[in-house]
Amino acid sequence: MAARRQALRLAARALEQRLNADTSDHAGPPLPCSCGGRADYHGRHSKTMESVLGPLHLERAYYHCAHCQSGFCPRDQALRWESFSLTPGVLRMTASAAALVSFEESSELLHELAGVEVSAKQVERAAEALGARDRGRRTATSRNDGRSGSHHVSGNGWHRSAHAHSGSR
Ligand SMILES: [Zn+2]
Repeated sequence: MAARRQALRLAARALEQRLNADTSDHAGPPLPCSCGGRADYHGRHSKTMESVLGPLHLERAYYHCAHCQSGFCPRDQALRWESFSLTPGVLRMTASAAALVSFEESSELLHELAGVEVSAKQVERAAEALGARDRGRRTATSRNDGRSGSHHVSGNGWHRSAHAHSGSR
């Protein structure tokens, strides 16, 4: 396990270096902001992303819009890393765990099984965005028992009458 961790750390450092050496996400001219304004380049910002390899310390071009006072990193959007600080692989694991156990337990599970650090708060945010419908469906089953209940009864009735029929023979 320790050797595996070490190998993952090395892979993480290599990936980190490759991504940080690639500064093509800084195009130069201002980029259009979602508010309709223009976002100007404001240097490279670093952020720690939780990946399946462990934490990645990444520097990305940051654009800030003076009109709506918000900023974004084009690379985060391109790689779908926005808002969670989780790479897609970790995001999928997080959503899977959160569908089965609580946010706190998911956080512990991800740490123990995958060695990734995802806080209960991050699990909650990711689950709300990705698995909200699944959780809603599960909690709604108790209220939705009318339809499934009648189906169960009619199935049972058919089975019983068929059994009675074969018994009379
Ligand atoms: Zn804006």
